[in-house]
Amino acid sequence: MKRIGLFGGTFNPVHNGHLNLLRQVQAQMQFDELLLIPSHLPPHKEASNLASGKDRLEMLTLAVEDIPEAGVCDIELHKSGKSYTIETLKKLRRLFPTAEFYFIVGTDMLLTFDQWKQWRDILKLTYLVASGRDEGEYERLCEKAQKLDRERIIVLKTRPLPLSSTEIRKKLKAGEDVSGLLPPKVLHYIRQKGLYR
Ligand code: ATP
Repeated sequence: MKRIGLFGGTFNPVHNGHLNLLRQVQAQMQFDELLLIPSHLPPHKEASNLASGKDRLEMLTLAVEDIPEAGVCDIELHKSGKSYTIETLKKLRRLFPTAEFYFIVGTDMLLTFDQWKQWRDILKLTYLVASGRDEGEYERLCEKAQKLDRERIIVLKTRPLPLSSTEIRKKLKAGEDVSGLLPPKVLHYIRQKGLYR
């Protein structure tokens, strides 16, 4: 059976923290395929200094070029409104009727997972694979997984790289150096397009 790792987010922009998580999860889980799914952003956010769906998709494509199993998936960008994970998973189920899904999340996402729309149904469609964004989060993640669903939530020990898109956007806006925080090709794209100024 094909095992597919799914990784959703705004990726505004994608950074080395995302890629570190993805690489370490993949090293342990060995998925047949990895799908990165940028989420829709409300038009007013895209219109401010943030990036369009097309730009975020393009940056993700550049970022995962050297991860052979990884591909970028635009299903949430086609929709005009917000996409709920449950709806995305149902669509993916139709596209991959027999695959086993593993939805990859960082700490913030697991800790708020029980506020997601139909989270119990989400867990019927996919496993959740959670890992830390910062040191010392492992125990908290395990506790949360125990509480919610210990059969369907897998917590992995990985070496975290604490970093956020918010931090990178701030630095870019202030004209600070961000090389080393995201792949050179992504930074080049940001510069070329004049994003986040
Ligand atoms: P923002 O600062 O704009 O809120 P973000 O850096 O949190 O963005 P998202 O695109 O919202 O990034 O995150 C997508 C997914 O990646 C989420 O599951 C999130 O927990 C995870 N993630 C983000 N940054 C890291 C990191 N440094 N380490 C591990 N996981 C991360």
